Amino acid sequence: MLVDTHTHIHEGFDRDGTPEEVFAHAHENGVEKIITIGTSPEDSEKARQFAEEWAKKGEKIYWTWGYHPNMYEEKFRETLTNDLNMALKALESPQNVGIGEIGLDYHFDGFDRERQRELLLELLQIAQDQKKPVSFHIREAFDDFWPIFDNFHLPTSVLHSYSDSKKNLKIALEKDLYIGVNGLATFADIVHAPLERIVLETDAPYLTPAPFRGKMNKPGYVRNIAEWASEYYKVSIAEVEKITTKNAESIYKI
Ligand SMILES: [Zn+2]
Repeated sequence: MLVDTHTHIHEGFDRDGTPEEVFAHAHENGVEKIITIGTSPEDSEKARQFAEEWAKKGEKIYWTWGYHPNMYEEKFRETLTNDLNMALKALESPQNVGIGEIGLDYHFDGFDRERQRELLLELLQIAQDQKKPVSFHIREAFDDFWPIFDNFHLPTSVLHSYSDSKKNLKIALEKDLYIGVNGLATFADIVHAPLERIVLETDAPYLTPAPFRGKMNKPGYVRNIAEWASEYYKVSIAEVEKITTKNAESIYKI
């Protein structure tokens, strides 16, 4: 049994079938638990509704409340208090398993870095107070991220879609973070954590793994990432499933 620990399955199915089809494809590939990740207050609300609706229909689907660093709008300060209050309330959802994705992204110009750090501090305070694990999105910003991270005591959390340096990977592992591995591993030259410290994710509908590049990503493709891991770490797929599923279940309590 596999877990997709980071997907955006609630965002819509206009390009690759209905939710029923996407869940069926996941099950055919042994992907039994799915965490759908919010990227803004509005999007997190969609994630909550989607997860609660499909959990009632018997799916093992969970969600997180997130605010992606490239989703902050100019007016975010005006709505921040309200957004954080809504987040606190939404975290009571029976299907909520954490906070994310949140973090820092310095890759693109035009996103105020000070604002990103300010919001990250607010959200980490909530994660700490509510004892919720975090799915972090950190891109080209680790020098600023580490001092912020060190100020909080969080449950064991995850760096999603890690593609930074060897040095930052070592620091992350020393700080008890786990690494989210997705389709990037199948087509990009990136550094990897030990198998014992990874969880699998798709980040669907983005980052479709090889050999399905060009198609829309979906949770069932976690199977392809597990196959990549089996080759890379030179262990059986069963071993990859056992370790990564155990990691996901213990981090997110699912
Ligand atoms: Zn994502």
